[in-house]
Amino acid sequence: MSALLDIKNLDAFYGDFQALFGISFEMAEAETVALVGANGAGKSTFLKCLTGLLPTPRQSILFRGENIAGTPSFQIARGGIAMSPEGRRLFPSLSVEENLLLGANVGRKGQWDLSAVHELFPILAEKRDIPATLLSGGQQQMVAIGRALMSNPALLLLDEVSLGLAPVIVRDIYAALPKIRSGGTAVLVVEQDIGMAMKVSDRLYCFQEGHVSLVGDAAQMTREMISAAYFGRQKEVQ
Ligand code: ATP
Repeated sequence: MSALLDIKNLDAFYGDFQALFGISFEMAEAETVALVGANGAGKSTFLKCLTGLLPTPRQSILFRGENIAGTPSFQIARGGIAMSPEGRRLFPSLSVEENLLLGANVGRKGQWDLSAVHELFPILAEKRDIPATLLSGGQQQMVAIGRALMSNPALLLLDEVSLGLAPVIVRDIYAALPKIRSGGTAVLVVEQDIGMAMKVSDRLYCFQEGHVSLVGDAAQMTREMISAAYFGRQKEVQ
């Protein structure tokens, strides 16, 4: 496996409080991986470590062979990691198009530009001049994903895409994933919906209280195994 991400023994702290304990995590180029776990398991903290929002100096987060632990967020974005954050975090005073264009400021070249994002989510072309936060929740989620894609990432982080959205909308959004993958972008999906996580991913990790409680091929896992891993530490599935 060609390593896109290779993390060994990652600890993370908020002051004295330890949120992650010795996390080891790997992703290959163009792979789709799901990360699941109960509230407070450490999923968002893990994404914060990957994007430099939670500093982790002196640790080992290898991205394409280079240690990015301790690197400022803007440099990590320039290096090719983009996040569609939980809650979307769109700029209310900016239009849909202006929000999308913010992603391009990172300055990476690639297949993703306004017209490619419009092709992926045609409704965003229709609503291009409307303030982004006047859109429906599902459409706002599309803007957040589109904005992340506009930076042409090698690794796209999707945090809680389905939160608060109707199942039919979630399905529409995830329908875009094969097109994103086919361009060679790896995707890390943080998801509460276990069924969706299993369906869209090649491999799956479960965190429990800041530890990896389960890792393996999504196709080899059952809902029961994942449910058990939500509450108790388990093992590796091959
Ligand atoms: P959720 O699905 O609820 O977002 P999560 O798996 O993403 O959960 P985290 O948000 O990473 O979990 O939280 C992991 C632990 O870190 C929790 O115990 C949480 O209370 C704690 N935590 C998160 N953010 C902070 C913070 N800013 N300061 C202190 N503790 C925090």
